[in-house]
Amino acid sequence: MIPSNFEFVRAGSVDEALSALTEHGDEAKLIAGGHSLLPLMKLRLAVPGVLIDVARLTDLSYVKVDGDEVAIGATTRHFELNTSQVAKDEVPLLAHVAGLVGDPQVRHRGTIGGTVAHADSASDVPTALLALDAKLIAQGPKGKREIAIADFYLGFFETVLEPDEMLVEVRVPKLGSSVGWGYEKFVRRENDWPIVAVAAVDGKVAMANMAGTVIRASATEQALSSGASIEDAAASAAEGTSPSSDMHADADYRQHLARLLTKRALHTAASA
Ligand SMILES: Cc1cc2nc3c(=O)[nH]c(=O)nc-3n(C[C@H](O)[C@H](O)[C@H](O)COP(=O)(O)OP(=O)(O)OC[C@H]3O[C@@H](n4cnc5c(N)ncnc54)[C@H](O)[C@@H]3O)c2cc1C
Repeated sequence: MIPSNFEFVRAGSVDEALSALTEHGDEAKLIAGGHSLLPLMKLRLAVPGVLIDVARLTDLSYVKVDGDEVAIGATTRHFELNTSQVAKDEVPLLAHVAGLVGDPQVRHRGTIGGTVAHADSASDVPTALLALDAKLIAQGPKGKREIAIADFYLGFFETVLEPDEMLVEVRVPKLGSSVGWGYEKFVRRENDWPIVAVAAVDGKVAMANMAGTVIRASATEQALSSGASIEDAAASAAEGTSPSSDMHADADYRQHLARLLTKRALHTAASA
């Protein structure tokens, strides 16, 4: 299908993007890689009147160490995160997961800001970020604010971002190579979105596609902190989840996958 007509604004700076957002209000949408927004527009599930292109804001494209955190600019592409030496050294889980997003074309266009803001519960990078307790930096007309990723998602395609705000940075703790991690992504075909995915790092476990948002496996985390074995802790991974049923998997199968992939991810993390 063909998207409905829209006006196109290319932002030359964050300030330009923000003033265009303020000017056009609810009618406007940012576009970065376009790999999630354009499919929605073609299906007319999104019909923005104005697209504000932030893809060329290269000053928001970086992966760097800042104190005891790694800071990642919002327009950093999945490919850049996957190949960044800083990410590989300091937050290898995230570098690895960025390399599992779609195919090379998707990874060369899609951005970390786009995948976080899109709020699809099947997304890989947000799952890793949730396990890492990432902080998100949003900027609006009143300045910047920090949002814990655990507080960011309200539901499917829904976040706490205001219409006049944009994500400018993602921050994760520097973990180095001594902290074990595991990521398990179950797909029907190579390069697909996960049917279920699980990220485990430092006693924290997050899951994709097990609810309307990416979620933490709280019962598993509690069991681990009380000294339970990996097998026993993973057995409770599906507690409190509400996965959907679709042509790829029904809810029961997804819950089975959550337990199995959690066990595998925890074993990988423990063996590092
Ligand atoms: C064929 C294909 C396969 C894919 N496979 C996977 C996969 O296996 N795993 C996976 O996780 N994802 C997958 N994706 C999605 C991919 O990761 C997208 O790149 C990502 O979801 C969106 O990033 P984007 O930069 O393209 O965002 P866009 O499509 O440009 O935007 C997405 C949303 O984010 C908003 N937005 C963009 N930037 C900002 C910002 N800085 N601040 C606030 N809001 C912003 C937009 O307004 C829009 O609502 C796939 C996509 C395709 C097309």
